[in-house]
Amino acid sequence: MEDPSARPNLRDWRDALLELLFPGSHLCSFCWQSINEQKIRGVCSRCTAKIMALGRVRTGGPAGRIVSVAPYTGAYREMITEFKFSGRLELGKPLGYLMARKAVSSGLAARGTVLVPVPLHPSREAERGFNQSSRLAREIASLLGLRCDEAALKRVSYEKNQTRLGKWERAANMRAAFAADQERSEGIAGRSILLIDDIVTTGATLEACAEALRRSGPAGIAALTWAFGVAKNNFQPGQEEGG
Ligand SMILES: [Zn+2]
Repeated sequence: MEDPSARPNLRDWRDALLELLFPGSHLCSFCWQSINEQKIRGVCSRCTAKIMALGRVRTGGPAGRIVSVAPYTGAYREMITEFKFSGRLELGKPLGYLMARKAVSSGLAARGTVLVPVPLHPSREAERGFNQSSRLAREIASLLGLRCDEAALKRVSYEKNQTRLGKWERAANMRAAFAADQERSEGIAGRSILLIDDIVTTGATLEACAEALRRSGPAGIAALTWAFGVAKNNFQPGQEEGG
């Protein structure tokens, strides 16, 4: 039997036109097929199953377990790029939904867990108009009934282009970039913290965030990202983690 998703047919084009006219209508953001499920998350059950099999888990650093949903390639890369740089904020729904599913299947969504998005530097946030990690964290928190503490971490310095720095210089530079904001935070002492970012490459950003938060006495720290960078990715400044 021919795979119905392999080749665009007339219905796909009709749906694509609908999507252009009415963004966020009942179409899967990945395969553009109509979604019949009652709860519309912007991704069909077939794509959900496929994407849930792609994840990666990294362990061993100060950020504990770093769980990622998909590789930073192809449609998975396009999706987050469009969300971040083209202002297609409606994509936060399917991205957040898939990240929430991954959090549950990876045991990262226990009751009482507090979601903490990786902050952008205020000047970059002002330039973009939003922090993509905060948007994702809010979506995941609302789906899972968890608290999202956007004030727990703050960005304290704007690191220069790091592409020419060595691994250790980058890490030291990154460590100075985040601080726990105990005054504005709603409290993370004794809580399980789930750091949220759009992408992980070296892990330096999440490790710096984890080290900053550790001073506030959380019960444990783990991290969840949409994408994980793979060696062949040629990252541009600003596309990297923490940007
Ligand atoms: Zn689909």
